[in-house]
Amino acid sequence: MIIIKTKEEIEILREGGRHLATVLFKVKEKVVPGVSTKELDQYAEKLIREMGDTPAFLNYRPAGAKTPFPASLCVSVNDEVVHGIPNKKRILKEGDIVSIDLGLNHKGLFTDMAMTVGVGKVSAANHKLLAITEQALLVGIGAARGGNTVGDVGHAIESFIGAHKDAYGIVEVLSGHGVGRAIHEDPYIPNFGKKGKGEKLFPGMVIAIEPMINLGTKNVTVDDDEYTFRTADGKKSAHFEHTILITEGEAEVLTRLR
Ligand code: MG
Repeated sequence: MIIIKTKEEIEILREGGRHLATVLFKVKEKVVPGVSTKELDQYAEKLIREMGDTPAFLNYRPAGAKTPFPASLCVSVNDEVVHGIPNKKRILKEGDIVSIDLGLNHKGLFTDMAMTVGVGKVSAANHKLLAITEQALLVGIGAARGGNTVGDVGHAIESFIGAHKDAYGIVEVLSGHGVGRAIHEDPYIPNFGKKGKGEKLFPGMVIAIEPMINLGTKNVTVDDDEYTFRTADGKKSAHFEHTILITEGEAEVLTRLR
């Protein structure tokens, strides 16, 4: 069921989104050589709780999962696409690229955000992957207007990625989603699609758009831990995400600093 948020809910989601962006940008500053992915997780959780909010992913149990997610922050390094589990033995090194994905519950409502960060200096190819994935998110947001459809958003992202000379893989088995009263709501927002197809977007809907782009093919596998998605060919992957409010015009990005 698609939920149109009330004015009061939108105001809370705006506040929550601002909190989330504040926390994630602080965590980003800690993404340096020598830090463990567990330290990033603990720092994110501490900052969220200091703001009076609750981590949304900690103990979240997706349908069908045997165990709940054991951390606040998903940390996915290099060929890991999303949902990497923080680990004190996983130490970041110069040249890695790291997706940090975080959700929080502010006054009962959820927002979701991710970015991929280079550790120290990264290769030109990796730098380009990050830039293109972030741009794909912005292109998707640009298509997410009231009256357009979910297919319009996916089509915009797919066309943007397809226009590049290098062949990138768009992950298809994972997608963006509605968000707000729960961390995952209807509808699904795939990062590919056909113009004019799929659910219609209405002002007052809140959705998370999150392209996951691979340097190689679109194919991914899941580790035995049930959570970590990684590229099947071992090539690197990037991921950027914002929670946005659909309006009659340009969408409002809720997960931003203001
Ligand atoms: Mg998400």
